[in-house]
Amino acid sequence: MLENPVTGPAWDLSSEYESVSSSALRADLDSLSIFLDEAETHNRHFTANRDLESAQALTKLREQASTLLSNVGTYAHCLLSVDSQLEDAQKLNGELQSFHKRFGDVFEPLSQFVDDADDTTIAEYLSDPAIEPNAFLVLRSRERAHENLTLAEESLVNGLSQDGIHAWGKLYDQLAGSLTCCVSVGNEEQEMGIAQASALMSSADDHQRKAAWAAINEAWSAHDESTSASLNAISGWRLEMAKQRSRTQDIHFLDAPTHMNRISRSTLDTLLDVAAQAKPLAQKAARLQARAYGKSGFGPWDLRAPAPNLAASGRIAGDTHSAGVSFADSLNLIADAYGQVDGSMADFVRMMAENKWIEGTTGPRKSPGAYCTGFAKSKTPRVYMTYTGGQSDTITLAHELGHAYHSWVMRDLPDSQKSYGMSLAETASTFGETLVRDALLDQAQADQERLNIMWEEMSAFTAFLLNIPARFEFERNLYKARAERPLRPQELKDMMSAAWQTWYGDALSEPDPMFWASKLHFYISGISFYNFPYLFGYLFSLGVYARRESAGDQFFPQYVDLLRDTGRMTAEDIAKKHLDADLTDQTFWLATIATLEHRVSAFEGLLDELGV
Ligand SMILES: [Zn+2]
Repeated sequence: MLENPVTGPAWDLSSEYESVSSSALRADLDSLSIFLDEAETHNRHFTANRDLESAQALTKLREQASTLLSNVGTYAHCLLSVDSQLEDAQKLNGELQSFHKRFGDVFEPLSQFVDDADDTTIAEYLSDPAIEPNAFLVLRSRERAHENLTLAEESLVNGLSQDGIHAWGKLYDQLAGSLTCCVSVGNEEQEMGIAQASALMSSADDHQRKAAWAAINEAWSAHDESTSASLNAISGWRLEMAKQRSRTQDIHFLDAPTHMNRISRSTLDTLLDVAAQAKPLAQKAARLQARAYGKSGFGPWDLRAPAPNLAASGRIAGDTHSAGVSFADSLNLIADAYGQVDGSMADFVRMMAENKWIEGTTGPRKSPGAYCTGFAKSKTPRVYMTYTGGQSDTITLAHELGHAYHSWVMRDLPDSQKSYGMSLAETASTFGETLVRDALLDQAQADQERLNIMWEEMSAFTAFLLNIPARFEFERNLYKARAERPLRPQELKDMMSAAWQTWYGDALSEPDPMFWASKLHFYISGISFYNFPYLFGYLFSLGVYARRESAGDQFFPQYVDLLRDTGRMTAEDIAKKHLDADLTDQTFWLATIATLEHRVSAFEGLLDELGV
């Protein structure tokens, strides 16, 4: 019997633009053109003279142009997430591609000036009050000045990358959005998009999860040549660029992602050492989860399984109700949990829904996954996801609303201080998740409820401490091997299986060899190593969370101050200033792992108590 499926609301983007062809959108693109024309006029003088006045004027123009480009780009991205086949949004994206190229070209002389000028000139450049807020970014950029190619070369690379590395990323996105697979649901075979099939991997039914996983992998296997070509091209492009940029100093493929995340290689090494030390604990958590299902080990299709419904199966007494949670209930729950830190955080959650800034519908053409984005002009965030009423959807919503809150407390800062490295970007999101889990646990009456919540905790713990390191290990090994030659699909499968084996050990019944194709994070053309920042953010935010008790009433303002600094300091400096912690030392991290040990023991205690 098919029940009325639980779903979330649609977002309303009309406050930004009525449509792709709206006059407001066209006017923004026209203004963008004018800003770029003006910048070009300045450049005629600037490239020869490198004068301060032009540099400052160009900086201001770049900020104005960037706001418009980002605003229209976000709009196109939002539309295409809901319907990847939308023709006019696709065309707009194509149009924006040439704007991006022009933007890159026009402001490249300024970037080079900022990197190459002597310290005195830079101090003078930053003395303009309108430019001064850029100081952190400018000084960070100068640290990597040795990587710069000549102006003509940078322009060539920028031009070629649109139909080079970025085109490979787009190919993957279009494939992921249009690929369908056949999954047996109940007694019938249903054809569905990958996102829909992926949602079935959160099903409570063992067979359903396995069927969805197998169908998704079969669909990707049929495209293993094109996906491996894409992965080889993306990684190969980056390796070649690193080689080209190594003229004065050797560039490592981890330099760009660590710098981008505003952490040092030493912090990254410390983080992975700590993860390796925590591996037995994380594997124990994974085995306990399998035990709750009455299995000796989980399969890769079980990683997003909900808690087993022991009440329904009669294994424990209690409510057997298992219908999905409505979006409204889910949202209220999150608002209450956020509100325990400060009332304004609850108001924020409710405002997001009232303003229709959350997209949670289901649909065959929706892109998989969840994200938070924002419109640069109105300085307002948006949350995207597919809401189907599972408990993990509540956690995903809490996570994305954390991102949204982070951008919200920074909305009055200068634009140049609003962007943060991904490692710190996960601080507020994971903090939000933890808040919601703990609030749920406090309120829980029934055993099944407690099981559900602790289950989510264990799922997050194993995802961050086993799955993320496995992804990191795969990607690192991929770059090492790709430096020799492109890899065949079978080699990628073997490499992925080996990484899973290293981290999961015997806690999983088998690895997930097609994960290199099914995980879209490996295909983001603008960013490499879209994995370790999650591990960093998870442990870092739990470290911040642990301060809640010790700081008492002082905590909330401190938390907001910490978030507001994320766009103008390195992670190490933020930890020192707000947490008095040294991130290159294991002490801070191990203290966080210790709090997780209690959580795993509590979960084991519950299973013992329930006799499962
Ligand atoms: Zn996130």
